[in-house]
Amino acid sequence: MPAITAADVRSRIYIIADDSMLGRQSGTEGNFKMTEYLAREAARLGLEPAGDNGTYFQVIPMVMRRPDPSSRLVAGSDTLKLFQDFAPIRPTSTARLGTSINVAGAAAVFGGRAGDTLLILGSSLVRGRLIVFDAPLGSNGQPSATYNTAAGTEAMKYPEAAGIAIASLDLQTSPEGLQRPGSGISEVTLATPPPGGILITTAAARKLLGSDLSALKPGATGRIINARISFIESAVRAAARNVVAARRGTDPALRNQYVAVGAHSDHQGIATKPVDHDSLRAFNRIMRPEGQQTRLTTPTPEQWKLILALRDSLRKTRPPRMDSIFNGADDDGSGSTALLEIAELFASHARPRRSVLFVWHTAEESGLLGSMYFTDHPTVPREAIVAQVNMDMVGRGRKEDTPTGGPRNLQAIGMRRLSTELGDVVDSVNRARTVPWEIDLSFDTPGHSQNRYCRSDHQNYARQGIPIVYFSRGYHQDYHVVTDEAEYIDFDALSRVAGFAHDVVAALANRNDPPRVNRPRPNPLAPCRQ
Ligand SMILES: [Zn+2]
Repeated sequence: MPAITAADVRSRIYIIADDSMLGRQSGTEGNFKMTEYLAREAARLGLEPAGDNGTYFQVIPMVMRRPDPSSRLVAGSDTLKLFQDFAPIRPTSTARLGTSINVAGAAAVFGGRAGDTLLILGSSLVRGRLIVFDAPLGSNGQPSATYNTAAGTEAMKYPEAAGIAIASLDLQTSPEGLQRPGSGISEVTLATPPPGGILITTAAARKLLGSDLSALKPGATGRIINARISFIESAVRAAARNVVAARRGTDPALRNQYVAVGAHSDHQGIATKPVDHDSLRAFNRIMRPEGQQTRLTTPTPEQWKLILALRDSLRKTRPPRMDSIFNGADDDGSGSTALLEIAELFASHARPRRSVLFVWHTAEESGLLGSMYFTDHPTVPREAIVAQVNMDMVGRGRKEDTPTGGPRNLQAIGMRRLSTELGDVVDSVNRARTVPWEIDLSFDTPGHSQNRYCRSDHQNYARQGIPIVYFSRGYHQDYHVVTDEAEYIDFDALSRVAGFAHDVVAALANRNDPPRVNRPRPNPLAPCRQ
């Protein structure tokens, strides 16, 4: 079988990360254009359409949401003020909240510490009520501003509640973010929407419960609440859509099972302010070795010296060039490219026994929305998907890109979390290579601070109990920066990742049994835990 070459991936990356793709942001013309390209390629390769209605597309009902300014929250005779006393929490793939809270004359109830999985109140106590929680505790044991996981946990625990109120609004460092519109999935299709969520101040919590939280026991009831809190939704500018294609398997007994392989087609669009590419790169080289992942600090005089020297050396090769497009060559132009190459290889050679499902997810950067929608509403039976292989940021990983990098370094995340066998398949495919990868499992460590297990599309498959492996070559200075451009991609390594992922998918598609799930399946509504 011919290998996927560096030249193959280079020509595709330069198309996908071109300025004409406008940063590929989901819900805009850029991502629409990208998905047109992907579907055109899938058709040209002769893949079977596996989206909606015999097409390569699955349109996701993506909307922009902002809090409805007429939202009301009344405790007894006290009317609380939107954005001062309370602020609605937008649902995400982590916090699977509803988008409204409606309470007509029911007492608030104290739910204890938000995110406490050991405490569960009886459903008759919380039904139709607003449950008020103390701020969740951070890893240092102190009340924390982070609320998504706690809110998601409470929504999962109390589907019959009207709403979840978390007293951590005082702790937010940029509460104005709660006023801004954000993307989401319209939930018109949900029969029983989960409870909506709000952040509240400590003073508001006192008003809702009629007492200091510290004086209350969980389950205590408070004042009579009347609430009508919601969002205003508006349509996105261009259809947001997953691209879904299949290569049908040959084995009559197995061809209705699928090995899914995925990447994300979207990125971050266009920056509000253009910057000089080389100055920014020189600055980030010294100050932000992992791009947006590295917290921004002020350079010392020594660091400024290094930055300016770097910038001046770049100036010798070319004049300043202003840049405002998030080209996302690595994120996830690399995975999208690898997926096209893998599809091409499957399309042009002997079919495997099981079918292979190729999914280019949209709206990953908007909070894993495309993969959330796909796994909630799969275009093939969900139980027929036996494994998912995800590729996100597989185009860098040189020593100079990441401290753990090198020509043979490949990060693998999640591959034994549900199925030991899946991890064994990855390892055995790797051992059979002339030059095996050094598989780096360090980012899979439970509790790892980068939270990588929860930060890409595979997570939505895992939450449905589908074994996954997530391949990456790691973060680097151009992560979520306009400088993530094709010229910095390691084309040779990318072509080798694509070849390896192809072989893993082929091994999974050809073995007698699907990878056996031998670890507990998560509750699909539970927030992800690294
Ligand atoms: Zn990504």
